[in-house]
Amino acid sequence: MFVDKAKIRIKAGNGGDGAVSFHREKYVASGGPDGGDGGRGGDIIFQVDDNFSTLIDFRYKRKYVAENGQNGSSRNCTGRNAENLIIKVPRGTVIRDAQTGRIMADMSTSEPKVLARGGKGGKGNANFATSTRQIPRFAKPGFVGEEFEVTLELKLLADVGLVGFPNVGKSTLISVVSAAKPKIANYHFTTLVPVLGLVRTGPEKSFVMADIPGLIEGASNGTGLGHEFLRHVERCRLIVHVLDVSGIEGRNPAEDFDIINRELENFSEDLMKCPQIVVGNKSDMASPEQINALREYIEGKNLPFFVISAGTTKGTDELIKYIAEVLDTLPPIKEFETEFIPELEPETGTEFSVEIEDDIYYVSANWLEPIMRTIDMDDYSSLQYFQRILRNSGIIDKLEEMGINEGDTVNILGFEFDYVK
Ligand code: GDP
Ligand code: MG
Repeated sequence: MFVDKAKIRIKAGNGGDGAVSFHREKYVASGGPDGGDGGRGGDIIFQVDDNFSTLIDFRYKRKYVAENGQNGSSRNCTGRNAENLIIKVPRGTVIRDAQTGRIMADMSTSEPKVLARGGKGGKGNANFATSTRQIPRFAKPGFVGEEFEVTLELKLLADVGLVGFPNVGKSTLISVVSAAKPKIANYHFTTLVPVLGLVRTGPEKSFVMADIPGLIEGASNGTGLGHEFLRHVERCRLIVHVLDVSGIEGRNPAEDFDIINRELENFSEDLMKCPQIVVGNKSDMASPEQINALREYIEGKNLPFFVISAGTTKGTDELIKYIAEVLDTLPPIKEFETEFIPELEPETGTEFSVEIEDDIYYVSANWLEPIMRTIDMDDYSSLQYFQRILRNSGIIDKLEEMGINEGDTVNILGFEFDYVK
């Protein structure tokens, strides 16, 4: 089965927790704190594997969870960092965040991409000893690993996409110009899998041609099979539009030409901007009048028109030569850029309380606890996010109202910092 779309959940590992521990040794009265830091959680990394040609594996396994970092332990032992989890995908897989639809990565190159970052380990209590606080009885929990629901979409990497109605001879054409051997038969929808063929045009030159399964009317609305496969044409640099010039199936090739183009346009306007070469196939069965009528129609639209017979290979060499020449003038295969969206305003609760004790402002709020687990105070953007939370929830206003001054200490769920206006 050919599967070219899937939705999975990925979850990077959490960081291990920091440890609370005190040095203990015979005859040593009271040792200092020696709780080690937690280890890093594993990342989720995507990598291209050319042994895969479909996304079928993701139909069966839908959740990918990287290991958590190990907790810290006594004697200043840092927890082990977790292994990263590598997910292998076929070349050309485009990964999107399912929630926002933004493109997170285009797996066209062999460069591995980190899609979800593991959480950093929490600091052990050994980090928190100060001259005034010699017995820190707390440590930090590890940070939560990133988690996303992502859609995977395979968009094949081909220079040339063959499009046309079923039975016009697309599979026959690719089989005579490349080593690809798709199924060829005289009934519709024989091609259920896009087939890639490498077409050699010189000792060091070649291009990739894709046989896109039958497009039929309504394909862009999801009728028939074509819609499923149109996305594979999206990256093509050149469209070769195959028509049956003989009309042997009782179809009118000029009409077919218009219908297919409408489908391409409905699917994406970019597709219509893609250069097109039109091929009148089955010329061995066509009369000169039929050929001339189609030629006039296509050339009237300012498109190059080639007459071939894939069945007898007549005219295919000339067609391939022309395709190679056109490709030389076109930009490389399209890669989709990673999209970033501005960070959403954090969702905050409004219930909180502030108490003053020994000149320290203690803030408590239930909803804040899970959020604190995701905030890395050593990271600038994470810290900014945290500040927005404090502002949006009204905590800052409340502190000001209570008369807080620059430099005063604020304690939020055990985390202490100086107040800065
Ligand atoms: P596809 O659905 O577009 O992939 O079409 P196929 O390549 O499977 O061909 C459909 C039918 O048309 C098969 O029976 C082929 O043998 C036949 N066919 C393909 N090319 C030619 C040709 O140039 N001349 C003739 N007479 N028949 C052809
Ligand atoms: Mg076919």
